[in-house]
Amino acid sequence: MPTPPEEKAPSRNFIQQIIDADLAAGKNEGQVHTRFPPEPNGYLHIGHAKSICLNSGLAQEYGGKFNLRFDDTNPAKEEQEYVDAITDDIRWLGADWEDRLCFSSDYFDQLYDWAAQLIKAGKAYVCDLDAEQMREYRGSLTEPGRDSPYRERTVDENLDLFNQMKAGEFADGSHTLRAKIDMASPNVNLRDPVMYRIKRAHHHRTGDQWCIYPSYDFTHGQSDSIEGITHSICTLEFENHRPLYDWFCESLEIYHPRQIEFARLNLTYTVMSKRLLLQLVNEKHVAGWDDPRMLTIRGLRRRGYTAKSVRAFCERIGVAKSNSTIDIAWLEDAIREDLNDRAPRALGVLKPLKVVIENYPEEQVEQLEAANHPQKPELGTRKVPFSRELYVEQADFMEDAPKKFFRLSVGREVRLRYAYFITCNEVIKDEAGNVVELRCTYDPETKGGNAPDGRKVKGTIHWVSAQHAIQAEVRLYDHLFNVEKPGKVPEGGSFLDHLNPNSLEVLTNAQLEPSLAEAQGGTHFQFERNGYFFVDPVDSKSGKPVFNRTATLRDSWAKARR
Ligand code: ATP
Ligand code: MG
Repeated sequence: MPTPPEEKAPSRNFIQQIIDADLAAGKNEGQVHTRFPPEPNGYLHIGHAKSICLNSGLAQEYGGKFNLRFDDTNPAKEEQEYVDAITDDIRWLGADWEDRLCFSSDYFDQLYDWAAQLIKAGKAYVCDLDAEQMREYRGSLTEPGRDSPYRERTVDENLDLFNQMKAGEFADGSHTLRAKIDMASPNVNLRDPVMYRIKRAHHHRTGDQWCIYPSYDFTHGQSDSIEGITHSICTLEFENHRPLYDWFCESLEIYHPRQIEFARLNLTYTVMSKRLLLQLVNEKHVAGWDDPRMLTIRGLRRRGYTAKSVRAFCERIGVAKSNSTIDIAWLEDAIREDLNDRAPRALGVLKPLKVVIENYPEEQVEQLEAANHPQKPELGTRKVPFSRELYVEQADFMEDAPKKFFRLSVGREVRLRYAYFITCNEVIKDEAGNVVELRCTYDPETKGGNAPDGRKVKGTIHWVSAQHAIQAEVRLYDHLFNVEKPGKVPEGGSFLDHLNPNSLEVLTNAQLEPSLAEAQGGTHFQFERNGYFFVDPVDSKSGKPVFNRTATLRDSWAKARR
């Protein structure tokens, strides 16, 4: 259902304004039809998510249609594995292409016929220059190109040669079909661009049927045209290709969609090019495409990001006409916001320190009531066991604590969440001088966290009962790179120089409240004070969950930013 005009956001982005104007002018019979055209040569990243949300969102907003089209014209780099993963990720994001799953390779016959049509119109020719020679003839940004010596071949000769190219009579790279436009054009894309090249490579869909493949430029606009795309939205680097896009549609006299360019998404502390992401995977700097530190959709999913949060992020950053870099904190805020609302709370100690409550009876166990969500009583409560021996966070104890340290130190009293006040009396150390245990006493009058005499404590810390806790693996993540723009490297350097050596911390001895033993893969929790965690769907086993930290509770940089 289209959104009624009165409910549309008051400020319209520039693409919405273009579409509004097209509709007001009665173009495209009032239809809006968009598409997302990935090349199946890698996994999708957060930048692609932006394009998907934009294109599918516009179709939804205007009551139009959205196609998923694989732009599969380069068999050397493309694989079915990528097609499957991309399809799955887009479905996860919630974009719906209904029955319109398309492939450029489905149009190979039509494209071949159109190429012949341009030859017959004297607008395309077969060229024998090899790649190196073609570069020489192309000129530069400041100098015009020179005409190929093969430019004036007759229509018959061109048709004959093009047929021979298709029939496999020439070696790879020996001939190309080129559009006859203008070798002196200030736009290099118009200097007789290649329409077809010879390449003997197995195609993931057409097999060995073809040994010539159309170029991106000769495929993209025509595929849009065939599918009746009204607004072909792409990133800014295609702005210089638009005259060519228009030239092909006009020369072929076919339906002519409108290409609109917007700024691609760049994020701090990450790289966003498929080539670099592939390198990270191949060289094993990360565990795979779904490594939770990767800004791929796969990685985000494994980290515990929700589709809702990714969509909210894409919506919030909007669309722009000039390139910029977005602070990754916006993405982290989006997932915090979603999970804050719905992740059940739990007690989990990441780096445990033992506490013995000396005045608590040895055999006693109390089941204390804990809220599943402090702001949402409707999410109910659960029982957490309390006993004489507990674990607390190592960081919640300090030996020579400053005055403002409101947690444990000898002689100080704190509140244990949902339990009692305890006071630390003594520190036990090992031979190396490490603190290994705290001896404390509790005040039985403070059950539930308040003292009847009205005395206050400033600190509340989390804990688990040592004999009941489950031991689990917990993985903490930091940015994969330690500079804001790792893609920008000085000559001779590599983006790999900026890999953050501390981007993954694996804790194998986290102690968690017993209810988490049954945590199901793919679910979320907030460990109070420690952040949002996702039960890893791959490595978790029944009764033995593994937790990935999706986000910390607060962005430690937030204050500096706002
Ligand atoms: P990369 O540069 O990462 O290799 P790509 O553009 O080559 O990406 P495609 O599969 O061709 O990858 O991209 C499909 C669509 O996604 C294109 O329309 C492209 O414009 C868009 N897209 C790619 N990267 C971004 C980005 N960072 N922000 C927004 N849209 C993007
Ligand atoms: Mg591309």
